[in-house]
Amino acid sequence: MVTRFAPSPTGYLHLGHIRSALEGWRAARDSGGRFLLRLEDIDQTRCRDEYATAILEDLLWLGLSWDGAVRKQSEHFDDYRRALDRLEAMAVLYPCFCTRREIRDEIAQAGGAPHGPSGPTYPGTCRGLDTRQRTEKQRSGIDYALRLDLSRALALTGPLDWVEEGEEGPRRKPVDPEPLGDVVLARKDVSASYHLAVTVDDAIQEVTLVTRGEDLAAATHVHRVLQALLDLPTPSYCHHKLLTDPSGRRLSKRNRGLTIRSMREGGLSAAEIISRAATY
Ligand SMILES: [Zn+2]
Repeated sequence: MVTRFAPSPTGYLHLGHIRSALEGWRAARDSGGRFLLRLEDIDQTRCRDEYATAILEDLLWLGLSWDGAVRKQSEHFDDYRRALDRLEAMAVLYPCFCTRREIRDEIAQAGGAPHGPSGPTYPGTCRGLDTRQRTEKQRSGIDYALRLDLSRALALTGPLDWVEEGEEGPRRKPVDPEPLGDVVLARKDVSASYHLAVTVDDAIQEVTLVTRGEDLAAATHVHRVLQALLDLPTPSYCHHKLLTDPSGRRLSKRNRGLTIRSMREGGLSAAEIISRAATY
């Protein structure tokens, strides 16, 4: 059993993070496996060293020790580049030159678009550009993103599923990545998106069980497609319920009072915080 906790150093850890960390930590410790720590710091404009240091400190103070070295995504751009090159060679990527505004306008003109978990699905504007049009636009120097051509990808992979570890035991979950559409896998200036980096990292770190919040369940459909395209092993998944505040709203970075730092300063012990994270 190899599990991982993979926060982004864009703020202090809060109770919701600890819930995720606990799921992975317990699964590893209960089975004599390994619990890994990864810092998802690809977006260097939002990540700060100060937060990275604080994450490590908070976890150790809580007693959630990890095994082996911490993997920092920003030190592994070559791994993501290789995966991207491979996908490019399979002709399942295309450059998208749309700005956010253009995507919004296109959707409005078409009378709306199916709504995925992270907003309206990309309408596929740039999917149909021919080679000449693409080269011309790329030459002109405008920014672009590389998107996954989902229908081409699915034609290559065929039907897929993964094993979801739920409270009633494991069950197979069929893959349906349509709601997310043609996701962005890289940008001109950022060499890997969350989807690409996570998929590659879980394989390189030989993670066998991915525990994360149910808000990321939609992404798993896309990750499973990437695993199939890149010939990577498929871990099992456990998407756990998200912690909410007393009014039922999801805990987030806005809930400053619920950072581990502030609870610790408020006099809570590590055991009390762990128990809150498990039961809140
Ligand atoms: Zn586009």
